[in-house]
Amino acid sequence: MFIESFKVDSPNVKYTESEIHSVYDYETTELVHENRNGIYQWIVKPKTLKYEFKTDIHVPKLGVMLVGWGGNNGSTLTAGVIANREGISWATKDKVQQANYFGSLTQASSIRVGSFNGEEIYAPFKSLLPMVNPDDIVFGGWDINDMNLADAMGRAKVLDIDLQKQLRPYMEHMVPLPGIYNPDFIAANQGARANNVIKGTKQEQVQQIIKDIREFKEKNKVDKVVVLWTANTERYSNVVVGLNDTTENLMASLEKDEAEISPSTLYAIACVLENVPFINGSPQNTFVPGLIDLAIQRNSLIGGDDFKSGQTKMKSVLVDFLVGAGIKPTSIVSYNHLGNNDGMNLSAPQTFRSKEISKSNVVDDMVASNGILYEPGEHPDHVVVIKYVPYVGDSKRAMDEYTSEIFMGGRNTIVLHNTCEDSLLAAPIILDLVLLAELSTRIHLKAEGEGKFHSFHPVATILSYLTKAPLVPPGTPVVNALSKQRAMLENILRACVGLAPENNMILEYKWL
Ligand code: NAD
Repeated sequence: MFIESFKVDSPNVKYTESEIHSVYDYETTELVHENRNGIYQWIVKPKTLKYEFKTDIHVPKLGVMLVGWGGNNGSTLTAGVIANREGISWATKDKVQQANYFGSLTQASSIRVGSFNGEEIYAPFKSLLPMVNPDDIVFGGWDINDMNLADAMGRAKVLDIDLQKQLRPYMEHMVPLPGIYNPDFIAANQGARANNVIKGTKQEQVQQIIKDIREFKEKNKVDKVVVLWTANTERYSNVVVGLNDTTENLMASLEKDEAEISPSTLYAIACVLENVPFINGSPQNTFVPGLIDLAIQRNSLIGGDDFKSGQTKMKSVLVDFLVGAGIKPTSIVSYNHLGNNDGMNLSAPQTFRSKEISKSNVVDDMVASNGILYEPGEHPDHVVVIKYVPYVGDSKRAMDEYTSEIFMGGRNTIVLHNTCEDSLLAAPIILDLVLLAELSTRIHLKAEGEGKFHSFHPVATILSYLTKAPLVPPGTPVVNALSKQRAMLENILRACVGLAPENNMILEYKWL
């Protein structure tokens, strides 16, 4: 059965006019390796830590500024949200299609809340905590190309033409602000697009972005802004001692107009200085160490990297399943071809390299979790190929071959062929990223005995379900397995309303 909403009734949870306050038992373990009776043994001690969560239930009016607004993802997301808000339907060759949010964790997935009369009860994911309604988001942003969003939607060739016609009046007046362009960081083939750029030194460019954010906030009367990079994939920046390794060095390099600070890092600096959450949806290392330090010092949310939309999402499910089943993947080979502007930009070796790096570590945690299958340091062969084939447009093809060793030396080969419009996968993920980033800034927690509440760590691991190469605070484990990432997110939101983690035991029905 499906219910639309619920309220928790517990002595540990208090709903007030301004917040939800929960007292929560966090069940965890402590490990020690100690000498017991002359033998070193691993001892695991279950322990319970008490936490308090406080969630501000005032949902702000949210502005979302996209870097690369006029691109396929930016125009598709903007169009999709307007179509949903306006309740638009359109004719396809199959049927009359209604706007929806399929593919969005917050808008189109559900959570289990319990059992009622022997039936499992589910509710929308978004009913867990008060979240911004996408209908109320004001979109804006920057692009190095000045095309308005209606034309950009046409250029993207993603949405059905009947839908595009209906959306045009809503999008014609939306024109991206000039962006920061540095041809050294993206493929040379993007040069022709760059007709809408911010002039001046890097310092001046950062100041312009800050000004843009302030003016956007003022003009649209929004309470909060989230900025998200969905512009072209850049090459990696060199991380150099003295250049960008610390906040001081990064800010000094900015003043000196050093060549090696990428546009994405400039936008991120502006956002951190403005205390505006900044999310990186592409694979490059926008978050150089000096920038991460700056975000930590200023407690300003940063999250990334690279939307986990298609092939990598499948990988973080399939390898988790195989390794979890005691099967040993030994070779994973992924081919992609796509024909949109992203594909054209990735046809340059330096930008492809960023994608290759971001896709490469995705199975590491799953492999490392099973010492029965893998020797220490052993790893499956893992190769990623991306080719630009203009004809297929945004309809990306992903072909994967997984070869595994099975029982008694047997071999198992699984081949997947996935065809999908890339931007229709990415747009709902962008929506989730901005909604969850906003929500996470309204949650505060503290351990028992502590005087004051803390915000979440500014490096937002809570967003990892949505990213290919989750950015984590230095020294924190990276989790790539999709089911664990989803459970982490859901269970943290459950904790905020005093619900135990979903353990799937359903003990109620386990005895005679
Ligand atoms: P796109 O090329 O259609 O759009 C990118 C836009 O960014 C373009 O309009 C371009 O003019 C603009 N741009 C480039 N540099 C800029 C800058 N410095 N400032 C402002 N604007 C700038 O690409 P897309 O298909 O929308 O994808 C966007 C990004 O998302 C790519 O980096 C891609 O790798 C990444 N990504 C996409 C997916 C997916 O499924 N679609 C998944 C993971 C990551």
